[in-house]
Amino acid sequence: MSDTATTSASGLLDGKTCIVMGVQNRWSIAWQIAEAMANAGANVAITYVDDRAKKNAEQLAATVPGMRTFVCDVTQDESIANLATTLKAEYGSIDTLVHSIAFAPADELKNRFLETSRDGFRLAHDISVYSLIAVARELVPIMSEHGSIMTMTYLGATRAFPKYNVMGVAKAALEATVRYLALDLGEQGIRVNAISAGPVRTASARGIPGFSDMANMAAERAPLGKVFTPEHVAGTAVFLASDASQGLTGDVIFVDGGYHATGM
Ligand code: NAD
Repeated sequence: MSDTATTSASGLLDGKTCIVMGVQNRWSIAWQIAEAMANAGANVAITYVDDRAKKNAEQLAATVPGMRTFVCDVTQDESIANLATTLKAEYGSIDTLVHSIAFAPADELKNRFLETSRDGFRLAHDISVYSLIAVARELVPIMSEHGSIMTMTYLGATRAFPKYNVMGVAKAALEATVRYLALDLGEQGIRVNAISAGPVRTASARGIPGFSDMANMAAERAPLGKVFTPEHVAGTAVFLASDASQGLTGDVIFVDGGYHATGM
């Protein structure tokens, strides 16, 4: 976090427990968010998918006092159920769930969109979309009133970008899922939103063949240009976790330096 962002968010999440899913390494948007939430006063836990990511997650968590790490593979119902049981035992209740998870097989992002395979489509949607529903179902019972759920999306949900392919279709489904979950969970006071981030250089992003073009174009054309950083995404996540955003649900908030709003 930049000094300004840290100072302004300081104390905003005092007393809140935030679960941030999807830390692969220090470049992960999930890690940027976890660090920002901790800086804002939250008690934060992060999740990782497997043994490969475990070491990174544990090393990162060790830099923040009190931060815990838990494993969760969202393709496994049992893994999600175990996470919920562990979180209940550790924290009693939680206030915020950040879903920062997506996957599509490399071929689906390399081939023409027309070549999208049934299995690739299914896997991309299972990990990148259905997992939000599955995780919410297990964690909502331990969420406090006025809890906040958020996920990460991209402009490729509503505009076609070369090589973003099935991931764009999955993001469209994810954004619809946000609206349906918001409708369903509103009666419990739980809010569900998405952050549509501009291009951030992460492991997943490197797997998208056209990513550099997307990033360069955004930096060139966004009203805020190169000023856009992952810290801005994390700052919006802190806002969504805070009581300052209590009237906000079912929404997609663009944090892309304004690129989505431009015509060229
Ligand atoms: P990342 O690779 O750091 O994060 C993706 C995470 O998904 C990883 O931690 C990975 O382990 C996890 N994951 C994959 N399969 C999983 C499974 N079966 N169970 C549990 N976790 C699993 O990349 P990122 O860019 O930080 O991506 C995070 C989110 O942000 C994704 O939803 C991505 O689409 C979205 N996003 C990224 C950008 C960008 O430019 N990087 C822009 C907009 C939105």
